[in-house]
Amino acid sequence: MKKPILVSACLLGQACRYDGKSKPNEAVLALMEKYELIPVCPEALGGLSIPRLPSEIRRGAVVSENGADVTEFFVTGAMEALKIAKKHGCETAVLKARSPSCGSGEIYDGSFSGELTEGDGITASLLKKNGITVYTEDEITVF
Ligand code: SF4
Repeated sequence: MKKPILVSACLLGQACRYDGKSKPNEAVLALMEKYELIPVCPEALGGLSIPRLPSEIRRGAVVSENGADVTEFFVTGAMEALKIAKKHGCETAVLKARSPSCGSGEIYDGSFSGELTEGDGITASLLKKNGITVYTEDEITVF
């Protein structure tokens, strides 16, 4: 049986990004040969629409570009993603870099100016707290 890996759905070609587009990544798609890829889009799972306004994390809260606090949606989505990871027995996740949900290690800094800061997206953070190892699509040379 192939080992399951939780993967950001947009990296697998699902058009679930804030701009209604996908972000297919060849290296991630290639993992399909050796692993069972379990797609999740935490923001969609949390009840946000596609497309939607971009959001960033600012002082611990997630805010939309128009200033609305959307933290609740992101937290709900993170919990749903964790549930799916547990259900499938995923010990590893490959998540989209820099996203306020999926980013790992660095994320946009909340100023909507393209600046980055150290930190994890809401889902990446919850998965890590639950013992799941999180990689970005830029790090999967380790597989
Ligand atoms: Fe991709 Fe994650 Fe954003 Fe969904 S929440 S579009 S999976 S980066």
